[in-house]
Amino acid sequence: MKIAILTSGGDSAGMNAVVRSVVKAGILKGCEMFVVREGYEGLVQGNTAAAEAHGREINTLTEAAVEAKVVTDPLLQQEASRLDEKLLHNLRFGDGDLLKDGTCEFVGGRSLKGRYIVRVGWDDVRGWFSEGGTLIGTARSMTFKTPEGRTAAAHNMIKEGIDALVVCGGDGSLTGADVFRREWPDLIRSLRDKGLITEEKHAAHAHLKIVGLVGSIDNDMCLTDLTIGAPTALQRICEAIDNINSTAYSHSRAFVIEVMGRDCGWLALMAGVAGGADFIFIPERPPKVQPWEDEMCAQIHRHREIGKRKTIVIVAEGAHDKDLNPIRVDYVKDVLRERLGLDTRVTTLGHTQRGGRPCALDRIMPTLQGVEAVDALLESTPETPSYMIGLHENKVVRVSLMEAVAKTRSVAAAVRAKDFDKALDLRGPEFKEALDGFVKVSAIADESTMLPEEKRMRVGIIHMGAPAGGMNAATRTAVRYCIRQGHTPLAIHNGFRGLLDDNVDELSWLGVDAWMNRGGSELGTNRALPSIDLGGIASKFQQYQLESFMLIGGFEAFTALLQLEEGRKYYPAFHIPMVHIPATISNNVPMTEYSLGSDTSLNALVDACDAIKQSASASRNRVFVVETQGGNCGYLAALGGLAVGASLVYTPEEGISLDMLRRDVRFLKTRYKLDPPGRSEGRLVIRNENSSGVYTTSMITKMLGEEGDPLFDARSASLGHTLQGGIPSPTDRARAARLSLKCMAFLEYHHEKLLAQGHKHRQASPESAAIITIQTSSVKMVPVQEMVEHADMKNRRGKTAWWTDAKDLVEQLVGKPQFLGMH
Ligand code: ATP
Repeated sequence: MKIAILTSGGDSAGMNAVVRSVVKAGILKGCEMFVVREGYEGLVQGNTAAAEAHGREINTLTEAAVEAKVVTDPLLQQEASRLDEKLLHNLRFGDGDLLKDGTCEFVGGRSLKGRYIVRVGWDDVRGWFSEGGTLIGTARSMTFKTPEGRTAAAHNMIKEGIDALVVCGGDGSLTGADVFRREWPDLIRSLRDKGLITEEKHAAHAHLKIVGLVGSIDNDMCLTDLTIGAPTALQRICEAIDNINSTAYSHSRAFVIEVMGRDCGWLALMAGVAGGADFIFIPERPPKVQPWEDEMCAQIHRHREIGKRKTIVIVAEGAHDKDLNPIRVDYVKDVLRERLGLDTRVTTLGHTQRGGRPCALDRIMPTLQGVEAVDALLESTPETPSYMIGLHENKVVRVSLMEAVAKTRSVAAAVRAKDFDKALDLRGPEFKEALDGFVKVSAIADESTMLPEEKRMRVGIIHMGAPAGGMNAATRTAVRYCIRQGHTPLAIHNGFRGLLDDNVDELSWLGVDAWMNRGGSELGTNRALPSIDLGGIASKFQQYQLESFMLIGGFEAFTALLQLEEGRKYYPAFHIPMVHIPATISNNVPMTEYSLGSDTSLNALVDACDAIKQSASASRNRVFVVETQGGNCGYLAALGGLAVGASLVYTPEEGISLDMLRRDVRFLKTRYKLDPPGRSEGRLVIRNENSSGVYTTSMITKMLGEEGDPLFDARSASLGHTLQGGIPSPTDRARAARLSLKCMAFLEYHHEKLLAQGHKHRQASPESAAIITIQTSSVKMVPVQEMVEHADMKNRRGKTAWWTDAKDLVEQLVGKPQFLGMH
């Protein structure tokens, strides 16, 4: 199959990851791959005859060069019988590197002038996904909206023999894709009738296969949880808010920040949650109270009254009031100045939100989606609908493209019709939940929001194990929720040792205000388990009259919960609801696909590896062996490997053997041999710290240096604790807020059940000691005793892991099986 990919509409981070993954996955499946420059406009323009000939010439030359290299090089000659022929022929196919160089014009006798549909090979897309925007260009094409434009596009595709198309863009682009597919039979009939294509070509390209991927920073598409580029845009916004926060605090100022989102308030909402804003305006839910100025000012006035020094208001660019009158940042600023006397500034983030390096999620998910897109094309028949590749949490799913587009359009229609409840419903339950959560933690409580006296609880909150991004955000949310409901939030500092030492105090609404973006653990944490003195801990539970308990941490916290639950046999004080929020960079808590901190550490790893790769590229032929933390769990190494395009990944689950190392050396040597002259690149090997006690990072580095000479040298880098610290990613912060609120609801529910038992000898059920987990598309509470069955207690990880395929995918995407002739 010949497959083309184009990016269309507004650009977004992660589009390059899609192109890279589609190109590589296509080549691995034996397809010829093309990129279309400048979106649909490129399809309409096609290739001029001269440029086409030029392209063919270059392709032949590069193919010949690869073949010549195989014939003349003794090592490759020896390997030739094993090397995958298709991959070799696809290795470098033309001028993909011109796209990356950003020249697109005339360089060294090669040019993309007049060529919009460009054949690309394996190495043309190497390293693309660390680049922001889209390297193949995007455009808004008015011509493609006309039947004539689409006829020209169909003609140009058939000239290249292409009848399968991957489109990455927003809802407009995907609508265009669907129109194109539906019309295709008519378009090619007219081409045949006009004599522009032969009868054979007409028969050979009777159907167009199309698949869509949503590239949009707004996260505005229905039937997918996340659009490509949205997490990076959110990261940009939160970086800006974090920076603004400190200056706002210094000067006791208010800032009104405008973020993108004409029809969709996802960015504003999530930035409000993750950035700890005071007030937000989004299109789907205009302020209920009219005039809204009163509501906003009352809320901010209350914040200032209790001592807040800074105010952050976030306004989506499409925000409006209940009557659809736009709410503009300058007007909000004037209101805050005039009514509250606040020194107020406006910041419009504009296009900074679109650009920049993609975050880890915008590399990993588009990579997985790209692979799925190629599979969907290969399985496509004239009867199957056009698919859009979406996400349900971390699960890649195929959904009907047209249904997704229609549902998305109906949100905008509902807003225009002032049916805001419907608009919110269409956005899905998670959006609603986030909005509800934001309102609960940003408003200060009064008696009207509080539960009746008898239902209020004293809630103990403890951090355990190593620090992880999001621990403080989860605590902040829990504390604020507690205060709103009338509960008493009690911070236990320095883990269970701190509890025994009476290191306990009550947290206040203002005291946790700045915790959303704080890394590390504000409560202090260590690895001491309740077993150090279970009886002593029970008496402290009694002394502080704890009626609910929240643990935030990794495998230790799970083990601690287990000990407390088992301790219920002996100590009545433990007959209270208890909940554990997994927070660990190792992501080794069983059954949950994500723990807090795992996204922050992946981003830290990506940042470090991008820098290392750059330095490795500067010295051309260098392999860097990067050691990651993760204990006995290879999650960080495997997903990190996928996010940075590592050549090899070593995990504790698989271990390292001599045979493996021998194969890996051979792969790297073959790979370096086939690099075009002068264009060798740095390559990364990611090794989890516990992958092997014998084949250590230092040993592997020395071995690669020795064996690789003179093709490449090797260096090592240990990322160590850099992966734990740092500012938590917005994804971890938002996840923390979401999980924390669900846990509070869980505690309240079980507290009420216990209350119903009367005052003496309350017996907490096993279900009331649970871990909150994310399992594919849902959040589930798993009783701690059930969790034990899924835990490998010796190796401190789950018995199964959802990400094991990621390691294989890393190797496939660098072509390891093909280069070794093992496919
Ligand atoms: P963004 O979310 O950034 O706005 P988008 O994909 O929605 O991205 P649009 O400008 O709506 O951006 O569409 C991009 C291109 O898709 C258009 O310029 C046009 O070429 C094509 N397109 C959009 N709608 C249609 C349609 N109904 N029929 C044919 N082509 C269309």
